[in-house]
Amino acid sequence: MSIAAPAPTAPPLETQTTAGNYFVSNYPPFSFWKTDRVPEATAAMQRAPEAGTPLGVYLHIPFCRKRCHFCYFRVYTDKNAAAIKSYLDAALSELSLYAAQPFIGGRRANFVYFGGGTPSYLSVEQLRYLTDGMKARLSWEDAEEVTFECEPGTLTEAKLHAIRDMGVTRLSLGVENFDDHILEINGRAHHGQEIDRAYAAARAAGFPQINIDLIAGMVEETEDNWRQCVAKTLALAPDSVTIYQMEVPYNTTLYRRMKEEGKLAAPVADWETKRRWVQEAFAELEKAGYTVGSAYTAVRDKARTRFVYRDKLWAGADLLSLGVASFGHIGGVHYQNHHDFDPYIERLNKGELPIYRALTPSADERLIREFILQLKLGAVSLRYFAEKFNVDPRARFAEPLDRIRQLGHLSMDGDTVRINREGLLQVDRLLHEFFLPEHRNARYA
Ligand code: SF4
Repeated sequence: MSIAAPAPTAPPLETQTTAGNYFVSNYPPFSFWKTDRVPEATAAMQRAPEAGTPLGVYLHIPFCRKRCHFCYFRVYTDKNAAAIKSYLDAALSELSLYAAQPFIGGRRANFVYFGGGTPSYLSVEQLRYLTDGMKARLSWEDAEEVTFECEPGTLTEAKLHAIRDMGVTRLSLGVENFDDHILEINGRAHHGQEIDRAYAAARAAGFPQINIDLIAGMVEETEDNWRQCVAKTLALAPDSVTIYQMEVPYNTTLYRRMKEEGKLAAPVADWETKRRWVQEAFAELEKAGYTVGSAYTAVRDKARTRFVYRDKLWAGADLLSLGVASFGHIGGVHYQNHHDFDPYIERLNKGELPIYRALTPSADERLIREFILQLKLGAVSLRYFAEKFNVDPRARFAEPLDRIRQLGHLSMDGDTVRINREGLLQVDRLLHEFFLPEHRNARYA
């Protein structure tokens, strides 16, 4: 690593939680994806896939029982059965349009992900209708992983068996917190006792992997409450635990309230506290035998618990994304669908792809994207990047690597760049160091 670097210019260490996106999920930032670049996405569909590129399928189910106050996803709480049916039919039409395009190239889905929103909001009949239709259009037979996100209060034994019968291998339970008061004032629809009931029924249904999602620093979170959340999670012994630090993006109810009240800081824990809480949770999980595998996840059995969706996506897989507002990546082109319900459905009723904006990242931007996403794992192989991009990351990223090393968060270990735990707990802010100048300080959405 180059030593002749300027003195470290630490990015400002946030204290209070102010409005804005913290979590870096893609690159370049979404605000750089444009409507006039949609033809780049449609052209990418006409090309055969690059040999060896895995294919994933994502479906956004945008329905929830209630809108959580911190939610920034496209969700609807007012759609009746007829509207849901029209949405499922639109998503199936969308998949039919894609299945006929050359970019599929005879591939079957390597991984499938049902996200939301709340996929488990759908009834057993709706789920069967949807998934039978999807499989008839694009086979999942070879999928290494099928993930399904759930809200505990929407699960029944019958629904869990139906979800397992669909071929779901990884059930992700959006627990977020176990305390009824905290759940209530953050706008969650479920209650604490529904978590235990749903978890027991999910275990009985025989899912190979059950994940529990937690959020550190929800409104009115206390030290004591967080410790209890971690203890209750450990008592359930899920196969994996995912912990996010509470952020307050602009399009949330929480932000709207802050604006009305003229407040700059969100009524949630500051960043330092949230990092400490995640570290304390990781330490407890490690004591119980879990392994921390990324900035957000710990797994109980490292040998058998995998995150295929995450790992393939962060290594440049094609992601065929279906549904309102969903984000995909095909043949080197990013795209996002229409973000409103009616235009999404109208486009499909006319037999057109519902793509709203797109961007073709340059080779350098693709390199940055994969490098920063893989840094979230805590370790990145230099050889991988040399072979795939014909670039030595030590030279290309000499300055940001040096800066993060001088901040005390990064080391080199043979072929591997490592981010230590302290760095991992704030990795999303450190990743901005790798952004091209024009993408820094960009509003992320
Ligand atoms: S359950 Fe998830 S998607 Fe639905 S409103 Fe809450 S945070 Fe948003």
